[in-house]
Amino acid sequence: MASVSAHPDVMEKLVSLAKRRGFIFQSSEIYGGTGSVWDYGPLGVELKKNVKDRWWHAMVRARDDIEGLDAAILMHPRVWEASGHVAGFTDPLIDCRNCKRRFRADDPAIKGTPGTPDAQCPVCGSKGTLSEPRLFNLMFKTFMGPVEESAAIVYLRPETAQGIFVNFLNVQQSTRQKIPFGIAQIGKAFRNEITPGNFIFRTREFEQMEMQFFVEPGTDEEHFEYWKAQRMEWHRSLGLAPDRLRYKPHEQLAHYARAAADIEFDFGGSLGYQEIEGIHNRSDFDLGRHQEYSGKKLEYFDQPKNRRYIPYVIETSVGADRTTLALLVNAYREEEVPGETEGRTVLGFAPSIAPIKAGVFPLVKKDGMPEMAENVANDLRRAFPIFYDDGGAIGRRYRRQDEVGTPFGITIDGQSTQDGTVTVRDRDTLQQVRVAADQLRGYIAERIAPNE
Ligand code: ATP
Repeated sequence: MASVSAHPDVMEKLVSLAKRRGFIFQSSEIYGGTGSVWDYGPLGVELKKNVKDRWWHAMVRARDDIEGLDAAILMHPRVWEASGHVAGFTDPLIDCRNCKRRFRADDPAIKGTPGTPDAQCPVCGSKGTLSEPRLFNLMFKTFMGPVEESAAIVYLRPETAQGIFVNFLNVQQSTRQKIPFGIAQIGKAFRNEITPGNFIFRTREFEQMEMQFFVEPGTDEEHFEYWKAQRMEWHRSLGLAPDRLRYKPHEQLAHYARAAADIEFDFGGSLGYQEIEGIHNRSDFDLGRHQEYSGKKLEYFDQPKNRRYIPYVIETSVGADRTTLALLVNAYREEEVPGETEGRTVLGFAPSIAPIKAGVFPLVKKDGMPEMAENVANDLRRAFPIFYDDGGAIGRRYRRQDEVGTPFGITIDGQSTQDGTVTVRDRDTLQQVRVAADQLRGYIAERIAPNE
């Protein structure tokens, strides 16, 4: 369990800001909402897309030893028998017969032994109404085929990894990759979580970014260490504060795992340090099981060594939503503004991650300023997301962009129409510099480039 963090709990403020400014909305809100399912609004979709693009770039495009994949969500039901999810993807649960609430068996709030008369429900306080623990499968089930009764049961995938394992040979043979090499994909996963919550931290529908690196047995430990370091570097490159990131080795390993470590981020408050990514040495378990269940050989032939083997797998598995939440928490700050009575709220995203890169503002709606501002906006819009705003006092317009993390504010003022320069305000330092309007695109592009 996490210990209480030295960083403040900003979750409630973030949930409200996220809704007000169009980052994240509760799913089906007008119907009262769907439990632990969230929709990304105009700014949220840009923010999460930046996270996914950065991952794809680092893992696929910038390397020649990892291939991309986009496997389907629905898979053959035998996949989940082979993977162990049908038998093992379960949490023991306890029901209260009185208030109908459901708890994890290890919930520390439960007093007494569930299933006996002295056990007490932590919500309604009734005694003797708690059931014995029962296993509950976390996979969502549905039916494939026209008639429900006769159709086959299929599952919504609870992780993207299995789509990679079953395509191991397809990808290897079509790309002629040699071991060691990896396969990466980004996609939706679904888990009927028992204790979801903390906004988008644990949800029932989420996106994973997973990479399986196939290696020769015996070399797995060095690859595991390499990926642990690489992945930590990636989180830092997004702008997550290094002193809020740490490794957590797993004390208890799954039976097939040879090593596992989490990368944790300090979410602040009582949530504290929590996993955002897992790095696992999965041995030959997955390919071995799929070979056994499918009856198809999933071996690799190493020609120079004249050796045939089932590769070991080093997996890196990170949530796009959880990383997005870490970025929001990391970025949120409230501060005084020197010389002003009103403070400001800032999302201090790294410029490469910010959903909007620049705000464009005509100082006043006259004297040719709006026309010039529109030209500037149209030019910049072709290169990156910008926001045009000609309403209200300029200070207020700056503050509205600070609150959504826009790194630059470009103002077209009286001087602009005379000499063709504009002011560029830096969100963090509040410094303003004059830049020639025809140099702006290059000026901003240089400053929003990812720090890789
Ligand atoms: P947790 O115990 O925190 O639910 P896990 O150990 O089950 O996570 P993995 O199966 O290793 O998680 O999944 C890898 C990553 O996928 C996690 O580090 C997390 O970022 C993300 N993830 C897993 N489950 C969820 C979820 N329900 N909602 C959002 N992200 C999730």
